[in-house]
Amino acid sequence: MTTAELLERRFRVLGRGSPLFYDQPLHIVRGAGVWLYDADGRRYLDAYNNVPHVGHCHPHVVEAIARQASVLNTHTRYLHEGIVLYAERLTSWFDRELSMAFLACTGSEANEIALRMATVCSGHRGILCTKFAYHGNTTAVAQISTVLPPPEGLGPHIRAITAPDSYRGARAANGVLSPAAWLAEIEAACASLKESGQGVAAILIDTILSSEGLPAIPAEFVARAVAIVRAAGGVYIADEVQPGFGRTGTHKWGYQRHGVVPDIVTLGKPMANGHPVSGVIARAELATEFAAKVMYFNTFGGNPVSCAAANAVLDVLERERLQENARVVGEHALAGLERLMQKHELIGDVRGHGLFFGAELVTDRRSKTPATAETRRVVNAMRERGVLISRIGVHDNILKIRPPMPFSNENADLLLATLDDVLQAL
Ligand code: PMP
Repeated sequence: MTTAELLERRFRVLGRGSPLFYDQPLHIVRGAGVWLYDADGRRYLDAYNNVPHVGHCHPHVVEAIARQASVLNTHTRYLHEGIVLYAERLTSWFDRELSMAFLACTGSEANEIALRMATVCSGHRGILCTKFAYHGNTTAVAQISTVLPPPEGLGPHIRAITAPDSYRGARAANGVLSPAAWLAEIEAACASLKESGQGVAAILIDTILSSEGLPAIPAEFVARAVAIVRAAGGVYIADEVQPGFGRTGTHKWGYQRHGVVPDIVTLGKPMANGHPVSGVIARAELATEFAAKVMYFNTFGGNPVSCAAANAVLDVLERERLQENARVVGEHALAGLERLMQKHELIGDVRGHGLFFGAELVTDRRSKTPATAETRRVVNAMRERGVLISRIGVHDNILKIRPPMPFSNENADLLLATLDDVLQAL
């Protein structure tokens, strides 16, 4: 079967709306570490996927899943040590206040639970999110996933705040940088939610603002916004689906860079290296109140096989010191991107944290005109040359680079050399 035939079969049963990466979609059949292999045996450097956090098909995780699957897989209405051990271990990775865990299967579900917890415990309905955010695909969560505006429209309880844009700053058509402007927007949103009778239940933020374009956020930005929301009776929900589990290099969690401990944290993607595991970590008082009011049960969430996979991921992160690797290799890669920026006019800005970085492409550095079409060509040309990345941002002009955590300096050098060649040939 050719790739074209598989594509046709897929269109017929899944439709053309189901997204595929690249102008020439990839037919991937195998993964190992930071490498993916297509049906023709060609190898690609994976510089995009954060789900295979400790590397594709890590043997320790594979073995843990296989071993537990051969012994028992039920649900959480029986006692099992796996979930208890995992929840104890996971919460020990957080600030002391965040001491209780709920397990689920997707990031969308985790955010759904967090929104419900905030709403039930505060007695309010209003939610603040950022413009151009992505938080998932359920009905409630689609309301705050403003990057894909829901066709049904935003409910009266939603207030989307302009995300900071550290490159264009206050001049941005779609961005504010000055803390004063940002805080004024938060204040106004809280005031209007109160006035409308919705009240303020929560602010929910992706702590690395990935979809929004990975802006460098000034110190205190988030902490001061959270203070306003808390004063209005709401809680702070930190979405760690993308930055969590050590990816930023300097911290285990993205929120730790912003100097304020959240009330609720949501986790997903990297948690079990591809096995569908997600979670909500909350302050004990919130978790206890929620559990008393809502009977939360999830058929698959927290099952023994999922917990074995998630526990194995923590083992590997600790044994292989992958957070430190993210810091060291991230610095190396960012320095290399900065050198490429000296050489290629198209790169207007580079930024990032640990193994999550981006390069913003512009057709003219003075006007900062987004090079949207060129960015698409670069991403496709990288794929043609065997390196997988993607693109993000309001103008879809930021190269998104977020590899598995065992990414090495050597891998980073290959990524940089390929990008250099692609920009040269553009
Ligand atoms: N939050 C963020 C920040 C995400 O990036 C995603 C997935 N891209 C989600 C939530 C939703 O996770 P899932 O696809 O597992 O439902």
